[in-house]
Amino acid sequence: MILWFRNDLRTHDNPGLQHFINTPCPGEFDKEPRKAIFFISEQQWQVHDWSPIKIDFVKRHAKALVQELASLNIELKLVHVPDFSAQVTYLKKYCLRHNIQTVFANSELEYNEQQRDKSCTAQGIPLKLFEADVIVPKGQVLNQSGIMFKVFTPFKKAWLKHVKQFGFEYLGKIETNTSVDVELTVDRENTVSSSWPLARDYELNTLPTFFQDKVTSYASQRDIPSIKGTSGISSYLAAGVISPRYVLVSLLNRFPDILVATDTEEFSWLNEIIWRDFYRHLLFHEQRLCKQQCFNQKYKDVQWNNNKGLFNAWCEGKTGYPLVDAAMRQLNQTGWMHNRLRMVVASFLTKHLLIDWRLGEKYFMQHLIDGDLASNNGGWQWAASTGCDAQPYFRIFNPIKQSERFDPNGEFIRKYLSELESIPNKHIHFPHQYIANNKLQQYWQPIVDHKEARLKALAFYK
Ligand SMILES: Cc1cc2nc3c(=O)[nH]c(=O)nc-3n(C[C@H](O)[C@H](O)[C@H](O)COP(=O)(O)OP(=O)(O)OC[C@H]3O[C@@H](n4cnc5c(N)ncnc54)[C@H](O)[C@@H]3O)c2cc1C
Repeated sequence: MILWFRNDLRTHDNPGLQHFINTPCPGEFDKEPRKAIFFISEQQWQVHDWSPIKIDFVKRHAKALVQELASLNIELKLVHVPDFSAQVTYLKKYCLRHNIQTVFANSELEYNEQQRDKSCTAQGIPLKLFEADVIVPKGQVLNQSGIMFKVFTPFKKAWLKHVKQFGFEYLGKIETNTSVDVELTVDRENTVSSSWPLARDYELNTLPTFFQDKVTSYASQRDIPSIKGTSGISSYLAAGVISPRYVLVSLLNRFPDILVATDTEEFSWLNEIIWRDFYRHLLFHEQRLCKQQCFNQKYKDVQWNNNKGLFNAWCEGKTGYPLVDAAMRQLNQTGWMHNRLRMVVASFLTKHLLIDWRLGEKYFMQHLIDGDLASNNGGWQWAASTGCDAQPYFRIFNPIKQSERFDPNGEFIRKYLSELESIPNKHIHFPHQYIANNKLQQYWQPIVDHKEARLKALAFYK
């Protein structure tokens, strides 16, 4: 037997690991460590546009897991192979050489990963898969016709009904001897993702603090980018180092009525966790989304205006719209962007600049620490109006109004655009006239005029 770790580098609520541990292996000597494997496949990660910060984050967790598993007498080998096909070749040889009868693993949702697993099975690798990436198993939240919902709200109602009726599987923690200090042995100081603690630390410290101090004001604070009103859990969920079922268990421990108290602030946080499940279920049913297709086929032949200069200005945060620019600089500098800003910049790229959402989706993946195909694709297609339960095409965010509403005193803008430090609050959202009148240091001229761009977008989409 062997255990194959993928997007699930955790000992907590990990069905593949649990079954591996619980399955007796005849002929195995008790004292000999059991073997597990994790592939470091840089070439494949590049093909999938993984950002350097995400790669670093995953590697840190892989290294920490080596130590954690050692205390369970499991030897985790980190094997460097370039891509998925080399993973299959390696495993095939390994299984033959060691007469492996079962390869335990958790399934992965995306198309290429599924193809790789099919190839494993076709080549005789005895793969046994479990599901670890969602709260309610995929395929179990369906409408009355037995198909996946196309709208979030009825999905959410059915999801809640399912959880209340059937509960959900949660395997709990496997106690290991490793303390949280494990981080110290994996070059914490010099890593690009070092400002994100390891998952164990997040589970023990950050999440409980969020539940205690923030979640009860989540609905009112979640849209303000200058304050830390959200959980910051996305990178952990995207890398599979924290289980979404653990998240729900912890939430239920703290708020036992949360599944029925749907008008509370804390429920609005659970609502987002359900959005995550929604996009994963959607991808499971609509694998074409992994192939960059529009969910709504009506938009498949749209001729986007992929102007390179405009795209570069957006990427670099030089659009002349302070909130958009500050948001893009947050992404470029930290590898993370606030959700409200993701909506604003995605709307700006697709509606104001009429640039293909796929370019934005790719750029996000290449820079986000929490890059995740299902949520990223869902978010981009929502903003571009091509997606499932997307915003209607005529809803075009005004980046100046968004700025006035969600960053009224320009605190977030000033944090990332030091050139606007001295601009008064009243002018910070669109400072061009003020700068000209006062002969101040230049800021980027707006690359499009909001009113003109809006009319152009309406005509374009129509
Ligand atoms: C254009 C666009 C691209 C996005 N790309 C990604 C991505 O690559 N990876 C990713 O994890 N999220 C993505 N999101 C969703 C969301 O922006 C992030 O999950 C959130 O900002 C992460 O911060 P947090 O963990 O503090 O979230 P919180 O507000 O604390 O929410 C808790 C969790 O709920 C889930 N969640 C929240 N909002 C959404 C949402 N709109 N869709 C799906 N799940 C959600 C996430 O897992 C998140 O960590 C994207 C949204 C947009 C509009």
